[in-house]
Amino acid sequence: MKAAIFEGVGTPLIIEEIPQPQPRQGEVLIKVAACGVCHSDLHVIKGELPYPTPTVLGHEMSGIVIEVAPDVTHVKPGDRVVTTFILPCGNCPGCNRGRDDLCENFFAVHRAKGVFYDGETRLHRADGTPLAMYSMSGLAEYCVAPATAVFPLLPEVSLQEACILGCAVPTAYSAVRHQGDVHPGQTVAVIGVGGVGSNIIQMAAAFGASEIIAVDIREDKLAAAHRLGATQGVNGLDGDPAAAIRELTGGKGVDVAFEALGRPETVGTAFESVREGGRAVVVGLAPTSVTAPIEITRLVRRSVGLYGSFGARMRTDVPEVVKLVARGEVSIEQLVTQRFTLDTAQDAYDALSRGEITGRAIVVVDPSAK
Ligand SMILES: [Zn+2]
Ligand SMILES: [Zn+2]
Repeated sequence: MKAAIFEGVGTPLIIEEIPQPQPRQGEVLIKVAACGVCHSDLHVIKGELPYPTPTVLGHEMSGIVIEVAPDVTHVKPGDRVVTTFILPCGNCPGCNRGRDDLCENFFAVHRAKGVFYDGETRLHRADGTPLAMYSMSGLAEYCVAPATAVFPLLPEVSLQEACILGCAVPTAYSAVRHQGDVHPGQTVAVIGVGGVGSNIIQMAAAFGASEIIAVDIREDKLAAAHRLGATQGVNGLDGDPAAAIRELTGGKGVDVAFEALGRPETVGTAFESVREGGRAVVVGLAPTSVTAPIEITRLVRRSVGLYGSFGARMRTDVPEVVKLVARGEVSIEQLVTQRFTLDTAQDAYDALSRGEITGRAIVVVDPSAK
């Protein structure tokens, strides 16, 4: 099969023929339809997030089930599925209380070594060299994934675009539903309206937020945010965005502010933008040494909640997300703004790096898959 291999910082993705992986116990073999283009892959490509190489990136994919291990019963060959970037081990304290986002083995075993939970990769080069896996390694024609990370789609959900139900959309859903705890009639600000931020806007609208203020420094992204449900836009280049948000909310600030960039100044903006007793939810990731300035007295006296939100409680959240999409409350067609092929995957990450992707880009691996 063809796969996009990343050999290390400063080298472009190379398309190479490698052996097709085989599913082991508890696993599913999937023919990839499409794979989302996410900042987390880009962090690895840029060396901001150290990762074992050579590796096959791509961590949110949709496709058709080809084969399942005998112990897998919830999907079968021919099913249309999405596979999530968190691979819940199903056996740790986090997984046992439904917090797949806190799966201990996902970080300690999978992300540390680029292997599945038996300590081995499923991918090798033709000469036998092991290839580290990044989640299910979706930038390839086929992939294997643990069944805990594979979710059937409903017939109303389009297969290509469904790949973004593996990372971008559930990340937004979980942030809005759990850490943001957004309720109908509440006011929301979203700081940084690229891939995840634009998803949060749609999701906040689906949860009934009455006002959604989008903040970005690019007018094209603010215009796109309006089409997704933002009621107001603030250009971060026109002065202090937190002051603008307070002005738009009668001096109070919003109930919930989401930060989707992982930058010190925008985390500060989110914190300064919420009302007394409100919630600031940080979704953007940053290099591990980066810290943010938080005014301690405001945190204490105004009882502002400061939360982090990573990924989602996949096994309970993704089936809900699939239903929201099937009912048309969240439009994945509108969120997917650019399409690339496996051969041009590098161009997708270059465009993402230049800030040119206004929503989510996807790599269409099999254009004929429906
Ligand atoms: Zn991602
Ligand atoms: Zn776990």
